[in-house]
Amino acid sequence: MENNLTFSMIKPDAFKKGVTSDILFEILKDDFKLRAIKVTMLTLDKAEEFYSEHRGKEFFERLTCFMSSGPVMALILEKNDAINEFRKLIGNTNPEKAEEGTIRHKYGTTTTFNAVHGADSSEHAQREWSFFFSKREIY
Ligand code: ATP
Ligand code: MG
Repeated sequence: MENNLTFSMIKPDAFKKGVTSDILFEILKDDFKLRAIKVTMLTLDKAEEFYSEHRGKEFFERLTCFMSSGPVMALILEKNDAINEFRKLIGNTNPEKAEEGTIRHKYGTTTTFNAVHGADSSEHAQREWSFFFSKREIY
């Protein structure tokens, strides 16, 4: 399995704040290369499927309503050790706990409104980008 690729989404709160392009710039500045990019929206059904591992948790409805409330930017990104490198770049799930300089620290607000998603394994990354991209759309 390729460990130089990850999947990310810039979340609806970033669009609302008008910081989508700032976040994309931070990602590119950190030497991630774009392999696929798309602005789209998740339906509630798709958001529930995307986050199915969290079904039944107290925050599931909050999370899926939020993620289907506005546009997202879906990204396939390339860098050595992409999964770990990207999760370092975005920081802790809770922006208040995220280290200074991380994307969630700079642009996130709360654990729900945390600006960006990063896949946590190569297997999940592939499953997640299949939600958004056909083979032809991946460079
Ligand atoms: P992501 O998968 O979005 O990169 P993560 O891997 O850091 O984030 P997960 O545990 O996979 O965190 O949770 C997925 C998303 O669900 C989080 O990004 C966050 O938006 C939301 N979430 C997780 N835990 C909570 C919580 N306790 N309260 C509210 N929202 C939560
Ligand atoms: Mg996760």
